[in-house]
Amino acid sequence: MTGIAAEQVSLRLTPHPLQRVGAFALAAFAGARHPDMVAGPLFEAAAEKVTSAAVGAALVRDTKAEAGFLLKCSYSLWPNSKMNHPRNKKLSDTEVTEAVRAWRTIPASQSWPGTGCALCGAAAVGFYGKSDVVLAESVAYRNSTPRGHAGLALCWPCVCSFHAVPFGSQLSGGPSTVVHTWDERFAAHTVGRQVQRNGLLITLGAKPVSPSADVAVLAALRGYEHRVTAGVELLVFTNNNQDQVLASHAVDQPLAEWLRTTTRLPDRRTGFACLLRSLRTDKNSGAQNLAWRVFHRPETIPGVLCAYLTARTEACGRPAPESPAVAELAGSYLHEVLHMEEKDLAEIRATAQRVAALFKPDDTGGKLTGFHALFRTGRGADLRGWLQRHGVEWVLSRPEGGAPLITERGFELLFSPSQDGNAWFFRQYLLTSVLAELHRRGWQPKDAKTIVEDFDPDAIDPADTEALEEGIAP
Ligand SMILES: [Zn+2]
Repeated sequence: MTGIAAEQVSLRLTPHPLQRVGAFALAAFAGARHPDMVAGPLFEAAAEKVTSAAVGAALVRDTKAEAGFLLKCSYSLWPNSKMNHPRNKKLSDTEVTEAVRAWRTIPASQSWPGTGCALCGAAAVGFYGKSDVVLAESVAYRNSTPRGHAGLALCWPCVCSFHAVPFGSQLSGGPSTVVHTWDERFAAHTVGRQVQRNGLLITLGAKPVSPSADVAVLAALRGYEHRVTAGVELLVFTNNNQDQVLASHAVDQPLAEWLRTTTRLPDRRTGFACLLRSLRTDKNSGAQNLAWRVFHRPETIPGVLCAYLTARTEACGRPAPESPAVAELAGSYLHEVLHMEEKDLAEIRATAQRVAALFKPDDTGGKLTGFHALFRTGRGADLRGWLQRHGVEWVLSRPEGGAPLITERGFELLFSPSQDGNAWFFRQYLLTSVLAELHRRGWQPKDAKTIVEDFDPDAIDPADTEALEEGIAP
């Protein structure tokens, strides 16, 4: 085989996120760990799987038929292609098969444009537009080819990668979603899972479940054994004639890695179960709401944990038993995701230990409720005043000296505007740490009622477990 012929049957990764997802889908078809390993007959067999799925879907002709799912999706994937040509209804099976196979066959070398592939530099086999390439990287760079413009020059493996994108996507019949990451091992893992699931959807005509690609990311992270080395991006796209859309939502590497350990590690299980429980609503499972937050409002997660703990303390009439686990999870988020220094977090924990010592056995629940209230938005000055007042009492009651109730550094962390907005996180962490410390000390208000626990803090709701194991939202 000549060098030129060989490069047309060798899969390559390029910098284009969607091409990469397609290449990993082809690698999954070939049973290979990496696209680089897919060449020659292995490449041809993988490409043939895409072709036969396209032929099979085109022959259904009716998007509402049981096996018509891929055909339905094809309108938002490859509009105007031979797969969904309006004329197909009038053509014989042989004619449809031939037309789709022609679309899925490398053009004869005489017709090649004599230019390099825009993505990988190999010899291009033609110029490709909207029927083949699902949108470009940004909405501004839409994939409709202007009049007189021939389209994107691509080599055959890159064309095949674009044709394979749907097999690695979360398909809904409308917009599709792919998970993209520069961590190649994790990309192989996530796309491989998706290819497996789509196999059932496409070949068995299974009904699509309500898709929730962000939950699928959580599930993929939970099922992944290695450290994640890059961020994870969700690309939601449709290539439909009426509406072309490409939206992107990203999770940075530290958050992806924190989620992976949090959803997997046994010693974070209680904290994670509490996080899920606190996010559950009548409409959505905790996993769904967590997935939404990590992609859209990740900075709210420590606040969720803090609010959970105060609500639980109020419901229990004393610091809840899961307080230490939740405080630990909050601390891990501040350190691993928000990059707060461990020595600063230790300063807050030491402050929390001294504040907890202010609670005496004959104190009532009202004292704790009053303390909670100091952490409401807009009450920073009240909290500061409270700490200063008790700081005086602290010094008077401990004439032997020792650390003050709150050090200068502690004040700075909790109240200084120079904390770039981190002061609020430190305050939330102070509250969770005080509750954890009070629980450790066995403190309870003298008017505490005996409470019968109504749930096991360690338990994860079955709906969440199912979503996180399958990546399919219930
Ligand atoms: Zn190429």
